[in-house]
Amino acid sequence: MIELEDITKVYPMGGEVLRALDGVSLSVPRGEWLAIMGPSGCGKSTLLNIIGCLDTPTSGRYRLNGQAVDGLDDGALAAVRNRSIGYVFQNFNLLPRTPALRQVMLPLQYRHGGQMISGAEQEARARAALDWVGLADRADHVPSELSGGQRQRVAIARALVNEPTILVADEPTGNLDSRSGADILRLFESLYKDRQMTILVVTHDEEIAAHAGRTIRMRDGRIVHEEK
Ligand code: ADP
Ligand code: MG
Repeated sequence: MIELEDITKVYPMGGEVLRALDGVSLSVPRGEWLAIMGPSGCGKSTLLNIIGCLDTPTSGRYRLNGQAVDGLDDGALAAVRNRSIGYVFQNFNLLPRTPALRQVMLPLQYRHGGQMISGAEQEARARAALDWVGLADRADHVPSELSGGQRQRVAIARALVNEPTILVADEPTGNLDSRSGADILRLFESLYKDRQMTILVVTHDEEIAAHAGRTIRMRDGRIVHEEK
């Protein structure tokens, strides 16, 4: 379902260019859990952002569910993001003064295509998502009143509330203690096994990679190793 062919991402650097991605080809079938590893600066986030339609490649072809994504304009890309992809980041990316329930409702207020759903329905879905991550009793808490692990679980509820088929996560346990990290890993396992989601996770955590179906290792903008 995800097909990348000879993807490059180049940044101008003074008179030179920096090749953040240097000819990446990758296919990820629906329902696969892929871990992306490699040293800092090797291009993991750049690759994940392109796959997640948050960024566009300099050259190469990207097809998502058979649709060419590399030629889409911003509006069409936004629709793909909203419909198909959930995002989780190392720093949670929550709004500082917004209670958990409202954070999780937000993606439901930007539906592209599809029908706008009522406020009551938005709230019900957001509560169900918070319940699923084990935070039903924290709906009214703002991020500063939550632990790091709880914040990440709010972010996961927000990522899932639109029922995307793909989850992209960039070092989701990078700021968490090992126990909170284990909670996140269990949630990902459930998404993979129970919901057959496609999961792409950038991680330094060998434990997460061990649970993934496949691990690719990058270096200098290229995929240099792949293991099942
Ligand atoms: P990783 O996530 O593996 O640490 P990144 O994908 O963030 O690596 O970055 C890959 C390379 O591209 C790095 O050398 C980084 O400095 C560079 N880079 C990333 N984003 C930009 C940008 N917006 N402008 C210039 N260089 C960038
Ligand atoms: Mg990164």
